[in-house]
Amino acid sequence: MPVPAEPSIFSRIVAREIPANIYAETDTLIAIADIAPKAPVHILIVPKSEGYANVVELAAGDPGLLAEMIALAAQLAAEHADGDFRLVFNTGAGAGQTVFHVHAHLLAGSLEEGSLA
Ligand code: 5GP
Repeated sequence: MPVPAEPSIFSRIVAREIPANIYAETDTLIAIADIAPKAPVHILIVPKSEGYANVVELAAGDPGLLAEMIALAAQLAAEHADGDFRLVFNTGAGAGQTVFHVHAHLLAGSLEEGSLA
């Protein structure tokens, strides 16, 4: 799999080169506040490794890591909202993906109809 020429914005956050509000960190994942929140709780759940550009690649290459992302989403939704949540994986530029380092948008807390990331 090709190695990206430059570290992604999320890799730079993992490396503490740029600041972020960190909700959780494990050996494999980091969860940060989205800089432009679209919901009362809008957390990005990101594998620390940059090896997968999107959720389709991740599901094929490391389904266990995808399961870890979903478990962390449920934990954070319980801690920071009422436990109910939406999980959005924008996949491809045409669907609004702007950072090609796989990440989940966890949206929770009094969601309005259509408030997708
Ligand atoms: P995408 O559009 O790729 O699905 O999601 C990328 C997300 O990253 C966007 O919701 C955007 O607001 C967020 N984002 C972009 N740059 C930064 C940043 O420097 N810090 C944080 N915390 N979020 C960022």
